[in-house]
Amino acid sequence: MNEIKGTRILGAPNAGFTNPMKDVYTAKLPIAGCAWVETTDGVVLIDTIARVSVAKEIFKRIKGTIKYIIYTHGHGDHVGGAAAYLKDNPEIIASKYLPDRLDKYKMLAPHRAHITAVQFNVPEIVRTPEFVYPTKTFLGDMTLKLGDKTFELHSVRAETDDAVWVYVPELKAAFIGDLIIAGLPNIGNPWKPTRFALDWAKALKDVRALNPEHVFCNGAGYYYKGEKALKILDYNIEAIYSLHDQVVEHINKGTHITEMIHEIKLPDHLANNPYLRPLYSRPEFFVFNVYRWYHGYFDDNPAHLLPRPENEVMGELYKLIGDSEIILKRAKELSDQDQAQLALEILDVPIQADPENIEARKLRIELLKNLVAEDYCLMSRNAWVYFIDKDKEFINSRK
Ligand SMILES: [Zn+2]
Repeated sequence: MNEIKGTRILGAPNAGFTNPMKDVYTAKLPIAGCAWVETTDGVVLIDTIARVSVAKEIFKRIKGTIKYIIYTHGHGDHVGGAAAYLKDNPEIIASKYLPDRLDKYKMLAPHRAHITAVQFNVPEIVRTPEFVYPTKTFLGDMTLKLGDKTFELHSVRAETDDAVWVYVPELKAAFIGDLIIAGLPNIGNPWKPTRFALDWAKALKDVRALNPEHVFCNGAGYYYKGEKALKILDYNIEAIYSLHDQVVEHINKGTHITEMIHEIKLPDHLANNPYLRPLYSRPEFFVFNVYRWYHGYFDDNPAHLLPRPENEVMGELYKLIGDSEIILKRAKELSDQDQAQLALEILDVPIQADPENIEARKLRIELLKNLVAEDYCLMSRNAWVYFIDKDKEFINSRK
């Protein structure tokens, strides 16, 4: 059996450092980065990078005193390193909603340890996070002046409700956090609350309207300039509107969500765009997300308004079929016809009805391996890998 691996992006030991333009420096880890801007009266740090150990190295490299830290949002890879910079006693600025996010992360620490393990293919370790909270929060727009530079801050709802993007007119540079990442925007995440697709597109349009010459995105892990930066903004804006508007149309038509995720596609020129590759998120997750934002849980099937526990329903179906072999045989046939997902759902009947059905679990491992083989989206790939490992653990525990 070949070993199936997930995609890990956390934990890389070394950061990459750049000085892409005068007065601007960046540090980059695989999942996100940060940037610092020198002024004639001190430094403004935008995001802090994920880990304190790397942040300490950044702190050593920064020349001058850090007067302000700006959080582009409360995800751990943007706020996680803040403790390393506190000797300079900076003012820490964030959206008014960011402290609530940090509180929520503490409240849900065990759950978050679990979903982080599934999403990122890392061990499940519950930690109580030690966050550095902002010293000043705002909503709407805010302007900071420091030395020879101006920092225009805008709070928006996008990937999170606490997003902030920053424009420095003297540099014609926009620092947009995760409003753009390396690939399809992260508008759908199966484990996370809904993201704000329409507001996200509007925020990108506001960035675009400034005609920035320099765009720092993915927490400054990626940097684009000139025409290329404007084009990438345009691709992202068009992709968000395209998928969002299709979901709205389908909701109004009454299409079922399980049909919607397969029917909705990006037009070819965007689907094949190298800057919109589904490396982290994927269009199906986007569709689920926009649907969740606008639609209640009820899908117009009376059986689903107040459903019985799934394993009870599957138990009844299983009794009617009366034979695990028949189900496994059909699941294998479907798998041979490249219908691994359908086979997976059929196998759910014997496995939920009888979790001790080892043959069904063995077949599920094969189906999941088929799904992994063709999947390069980090989140779905890692989910398949997680459940392969869980089934293997279960089978080994029964030997
Ligand atoms: Zn983020």
